[in-house]
Amino acid sequence: MGWPGSPDDELFAVIDREQTRQNTTLQLIASENFASPAVLAASGSVLTNKYAEGYPGKRYYGGNVHVDEAEDLARERVKALFGADHANVQPHAGANANMAAYLAVLEPGDTVLGMRLDQGGHLTHGSPVNFSGRLYDFVSYGVTPSDERIDMDEVRDQAQAHHPKLIVAGATAYPRIIEPAPLREIAEEVGALLMFDAAHIAGLIAGGVHPNPVPYCDIVTFTTHKTLRGPRGACILSTAEYATAIDKAVFPGLQGGPLEHHIAAKAVAFREAADPSFAAYARQIVANARALAEALSGHGFRLVSGGTDNHLLLVDLRTFDEDLTGAEAQTVLDRAGITLNKNTVPDDPRSPFVTSGVRIGTPSTTTQGMAEPEMERIAELIVRTLKGRDDDSVVDAVRAEVAELCSRFTPYGD
Ligand SMILES: *Cc1c(COP(=O)(O)O)cnc(C)c1O
Repeated sequence: MGWPGSPDDELFAVIDREQTRQNTTLQLIASENFASPAVLAASGSVLTNKYAEGYPGKRYYGGNVHVDEAEDLARERVKALFGADHANVQPHAGANANMAAYLAVLEPGDTVLGMRLDQGGHLTHGSPVNFSGRLYDFVSYGVTPSDERIDMDEVRDQAQAHHPKLIVAGATAYPRIIEPAPLREIAEEVGALLMFDAAHIAGLIAGGVHPNPVPYCDIVTFTTHKTLRGPRGACILSTAEYATAIDKAVFPGLQGGPLEHHIAAKAVAFREAADPSFAAYARQIVANARALAEALSGHGFRLVSGGTDNHLLLVDLRTFDEDLTGAEAQTVLDRAGITLNKNTVPDDPRSPFVTSGVRIGTPSTTTQGMAEPEMERIAELIVRTLKGRDDDSVVDAVRAEVAELCSRFTPYGD
C-alpha cells in the first residue's frame, strides 16, 4: 500500500509560513540559528526509518551497516573538533544530555554545585521544577554584584562548604567568557567532578574564540543547534574514564532508539564547524554582539556586566525606561518583526514572567551575513519600536523596514 495520493497542503502551508517568518523577520533569540541546507537534508533523510538501539557495532536490530557509518562519522568528527577522548552523539536535546551526564556519575540525593538560575544558569542546573532540582541536592553560585561576572570566590566557598560530587559550569544567559581552568582547580581542591554545559557556546569554542573546556573537564555537554549551527540535538564528550558510564546512561539508561537522521545531521554540522570559514563565522558572531552592545548602550540601555565576550547581550531596560518590562518589550518587538526574549537581570526585582531585561543574540543574523552596520541599524529599530510602543503606525513602519533589511540577507531562498 502506498501513501495518500493527495499532498498535505494544510501542513506544508504551515511550514511555508514559518519559512516566510524566518526569511522576513529578525531572529535575535540567542539560542537559535539557521542550519545549512546540508544539515536540513540529512535530518530530513531516510535515516529516520531506522531503529538502531545500541551503538555502532553493538546494535539490537539488524540492518545498521550504514547507520553505523553515519554515527561513527559523527563521533569521530566531534572528537577531533573538540579534542575529546569519547563522544556520545545520541542525546535528543541538551536537557537529555545533562540528564544522562548526571545519571552517569550521580546517585539521587547527591550534592551538585551549579549556577543560579536567575543569574544565568539553566533549568537543568537545579531548578526545583526540573528533574535536576527534584533528584539532586543543588547548591549554587552566581555573579558578583560589582562586575556581574561569575564569582569565583563564591564558587570556591560553596564548594568547600558543601563538598559537591559534581560542579556544573555553563550558562544560558551569561555574556562573558567562562574560564575552565580556575573551575578545574576548585573541583580538584574539593574532590569534585567537573562538567561544563557548553550548550550556548559550543560554536564559539569550535571556532576558537572561547577556551575549550574539554581538557579541564570530566564531562562536557552541548547542544548542536545553537552557536554550533547544526540540527536540534545534543552531544556528550567525556574522558575515557567516563565513556562507558555515559554510554550506558544514554542507552539503555534514558533513551530508546537514537534519532539517526539527526545524528547524521550532527555529522554534517561537525564537518562544517571544522571548516576554516566557521572560525571566521564565530569571530563575526562576537564582533556583531559587541557592535550591537555598543549601539544599544549609546541609546541609554545598561548592559549586564558592561558588555559581551560572546554571542549574546543581556540588556537592562530600566536605564532606558523605568516602566518598560522585558515582557512588554518582547511583545511589542515581536509585532515589529524583531524576535527576542525577555530575561531577568541579576537581582531583578521583577518576576521571571515579567523581568527587567531582554536577551539578544547574534548567531542567526551573523549566519545571514549581517555585520556591524546592520547591528547599528537593528539597535535603532529596537529603540524606535520601544519608544513608539503605544503607536501602531510606528510598529508597522518598523516591521516594513525589518522586512526590507531581511530581504537583503535571506537565510533560505526558494
Ligand atoms: C539550551 C540549553 C540547554 C538545553 O537544551 P535543550 O535542547 O533545549 O534541551 C541546556 N543547558 C544550557 C546551558 C542551555 O543553554
